[in-house]
Amino acid sequence: MQIKAVIFDLDNTLVDFMKMKREAVAAAARAMVDHGLPMSEEDAYRRLFEIYDRQGIEYQEVLDHFLKEELGHLDHRLLAAGVVAYRRAREANMVLYPHVKMTLMQLIRRGYRLGVLSDAPARQAWGRLASLGLLHYFDQVITHDDTGKWKPDPAPFRRMLEVLDLAHDQVLMVGDWPDRDIQGARNLHIRTALALYGSDFDTEDSGADFLLHSVDELLPILDTLNEGQHPGCC
Ligand SMILES: [Mg+2]
Repeated sequence: MQIKAVIFDLDNTLVDFMKMKREAVAAAARAMVDHGLPMSEEDAYRRLFEIYDRQGIEYQEVLDHFLKEELGHLDHRLLAAGVVAYRRAREANMVLYPHVKMTLMQLIRRGYRLGVLSDAPARQAWGRLASLGLLHYFDQVITHDDTGKWKPDPAPFRRMLEVLDLAHDQVLMVGDWPDRDIQGARNLHIRTALALYGSDFDTEDSGADFLLHSVDELLPILDTLNEGQHPGCC
């Protein structure tokens, strides 16, 4: 069966999410210390990431939580300083990996349909796509809110196939997380490409069909799978 659509994980596959997070948290820590928080920037940075470790990396109340824990109350001057610095650094550091935009554009030109399959909440996933100028690139975006399940549960993968109206052998899944993106797709016999450039995981036995050192390596892989015939051609 010809591959007609490419499904991308979002964080650490298209966008360098952890770089953005590190820079935003560092900026928030610096701003709060600058406005009188009685601790070092390094300690504040470390404590903020400890809260993310406990509450999840998408936790939205991290600065409130941090200030209450450290000071015993919510200091609104420090909170405002931290929030503004966080947001500015987040926007400035929300960047795509090299060659992402060119690859997405080439895929669209060749007639592939594109999907995003993200475990992030809808508001955060769509917000990142908007910040990156990618809102119009994808035919379908499925987030955690759409099924209530996280990868590798089959539900989000099944939902994506359903909304694309394609079979498992007509799509290729691209992601950085072997246990979630790759295993989840493999469970439904979807072919997979592991984004090594974004992966912090042990990728040795990922089970992926293809390994990507750069996202543009997808183009020759799809040419091979489809024997040079693009979905938009002929
Ligand atoms: Mg990811």
